[in-house]
Amino acid sequence: MKGKFLLTALVIGGFYTANAQEKAKPEDTEVYSPVPPEVKAGKKCGEAPSDAIVLFNGTNLDQWVMTDDRNTPAKWNVGKGILTVNKQVGNIETKKSFNNYQLHIEWRVPANITGTGQGRGNSGVFLASLGKGDAGYELQVLDAYNNKTYTNGMAGSIYKQSVPLANPAFKPGEWQTYDVIWNAPVFGTDGALVKPAHVTVIFNGVVVQNDTELKGPTQYIGEAAYRQAHGPSPIKLQAHGDKSEPLSFRNIWVREL
Ligand code: MG
Repeated sequence: MKGKFLLTALVIGGFYTANAQEKAKPEDTEVYSPVPPEVKAGKKCGEAPSDAIVLFNGTNLDQWVMTDDRNTPAKWNVGKGILTVNKQVGNIETKKSFNNYQLHIEWRVPANITGTGQGRGNSGVFLASLGKGDAGYELQVLDAYNNKTYTNGMAGSIYKQSVPLANPAFKPGEWQTYDVIWNAPVFGTDGALVKPAHVTVIFNGVVVQNDTELKGPTQYIGEAAYRQAHGPSPIKLQAHGDKSEPLSFRNIWVREL
């Protein structure tokens, strides 16, 4: 009797399953809109795609201003297609502000670099500049080739917040790349944090930050926290105050997401 009941249940169960499968079609889960916009990708590694905003193409700093006085054009040195930090004048940042984006930037520690630790080829990409000086969220730039320092302050780190997953640094004199996906923090109308910032960083083709959640803007001393709401912000490059030879940048572009 028990066996007969089980058999009946199996038959009925099978019937319903088969029936459900008959009704569902592959097309049911195929979508045709929205259609992604066509983008002409760069042919060479690092080349800007057709929809990118080129921030530095090797010829001028038209897209940049001084951080401490945004009415002043950026006074770093441009020559031979590259941009070199001018430590005397301070940080520079983009004229334009960004929310979420994809950024490509190449940087080079000079071959003749001197100094040690944080004093050896230090710069930084502030993924959202929050005003004068170093205010903002810093993706560290530093010589990381046989150069010992605290690991949450090495190249590829979110400075003093997140140690990179690997160290793929090339030696001084070689060009290195950062490809960044930045998701800005979201604040409510009351100014309270709704969603913290997240960042993915690919350093010389190697993932070093994988959707890392940020605790707040970079804090040199003490713990980071979201203390003030903000909207879209410029991207800032750091003129670090150490005495080592200045770094260079090239091929900088951004795609808004
Ligand atoms: Mg730095």
